[in-house]
Amino acid sequence: MPRNRRAVIIGGSMSGLFVAAFLRRIGWDVDVFERSPVELVGRGAGITTHPELLEALEESGAGTDDLGIEVITRIAIDRAGRVIGERVLPQILTSWDRLQRLLRETIDPAHYHLGHTFARVEQDGSGARVHFAEGRIEQADLVVGGDGIRSGVRAQVAPQVQPVYAGYYIWRGAPSEADLAPETRASIFPHFVFFLPARQQVIGYPIAGFDNDLRPGRRRYNFIWYRVGDARELADMCVDAAGHQHAFSVPPPLIRADLIARMRADAADIMPSAFLDCLRNIARPFFTPIYDFSAPNIVFGRVALVGDAAASARPHMGFGVAKAGGDARALAAALRDHDDIDAALARYEAARQPIGERIMLHGRKLGTHLGVDLKTKEEHRMWALLQDPGAMMDWIAVPNFLDA
Ligand SMILES: Cc1cc2nc3c(=O)[nH]c(=O)nc-3n(C[C@H](O)[C@H](O)[C@H](O)COP(=O)(O)OP(=O)(O)OC[C@H]3O[C@@H](n4cnc5c(N)ncnc54)[C@H](O)[C@@H]3O)c2cc1C
Repeated sequence: MPRNRRAVIIGGSMSGLFVAAFLRRIGWDVDVFERSPVELVGRGAGITTHPELLEALEESGAGTDDLGIEVITRIAIDRAGRVIGERVLPQILTSWDRLQRLLRETIDPAHYHLGHTFARVEQDGSGARVHFAEGRIEQADLVVGGDGIRSGVRAQVAPQVQPVYAGYYIWRGAPSEADLAPETRASIFPHFVFFLPARQQVIGYPIAGFDNDLRPGRRRYNFIWYRVGDARELADMCVDAAGHQHAFSVPPPLIRADLIARMRADAADIMPSAFLDCLRNIARPFFTPIYDFSAPNIVFGRVALVGDAAASARPHMGFGVAKAGGDARALAAALRDHDDIDAALARYEAARQPIGERIMLHGRKLGTHLGVDLKTKEEHRMWALLQDPGAMMDWIAVPNFLDA
């Protein structure tokens, strides 16, 4: 009996788990190694879903049970809270935690290893040997880098590829439905809501509560506020409460109180009362700087990159997890159809690298709404188009770019 082929997967989040699920279905042995020593949690981050994600969840075996909340309408509101635009666009809004739980259940716990940090990989033409910082060494036919936008795997095989700061960041959080005022629950809670002052975006939608509680009264509202800030401002924001300078972002518990106080004061000057109510009920808002990039190559010998490690778009389409699922599905399909692993990897790269790049470019297009560093005629045209709230409702978190 020939031995099963084996993949070592780095990163135990969305793309790592998707790859593990899809490869198991074609008979591979898989082991996932996650840096975090404790189970991953998503701090209440909301995730918009698309048919591509639902298909990947079904095909991978994770399923879509109790996935999230179906929202039927999108509305745009003005500062007074008046509805200035409306669209019917049914969509399931879920949470990072729910997706992680569904995907995590597809893998035997004995093959999911917390507390393992990828250090380096050596290749010999027919396989690879992975070294972990904690000392463990693993041999595999294929190493999959699913370790996110700051991928350590990519840093070794393509160190020149670096994420680019978009010139804006978001404040976010997810207040509990039960804490919100009755007017907020009635006016914005049931909807996917846009409030669009100049060069800013405030977006909200309902998501599951703790432990995936979907019952009315137990849910949360995902709050996102896009704000422009140049690299200098970001560097200042990345000085934490203890005065330590971080390179890219600050772990939420360490964000300085003066930044949060200033953000709350700024919000009071511009936001409708329903969004202010949301913000008041977020005990610990945190910020996420927006970066993007697309690697020109995503296969390096027996190392393949997937998900955010391969390409990461600005979050305007809410398509990152769908892309992670699509990458995993394509990788498994190529390995199923080709006996020769290297030929399969070439096919995977040819199929998915252009898609990652297209998604990233589309994210930049939608990002023009914020008016940062517009250069070309096309960027100015797109900026002008997106000043209409109706256009934003038609384009944000809608995968229409796939048909282009
Ligand atoms: C503000 C925001 C909103 C978003 N909204 C949406 C949305 O609505 N819909 C959507 O589909 N997507 C959304 N996304 C994108 C989505 O979150 C990502 O695309 C997705 O999480 C990518 O999954 P991943 O597994 O590739 O990477 P990650 O989720 O980043 O996971 C990488 C994993 O690798 C681990 N790791 C890192 N380094 C190592 C190492 N050296 N060794 C071992 N493990 C390591 C990390 O701990 C982590 O668990 C959003 C992103 C942002 C920033």
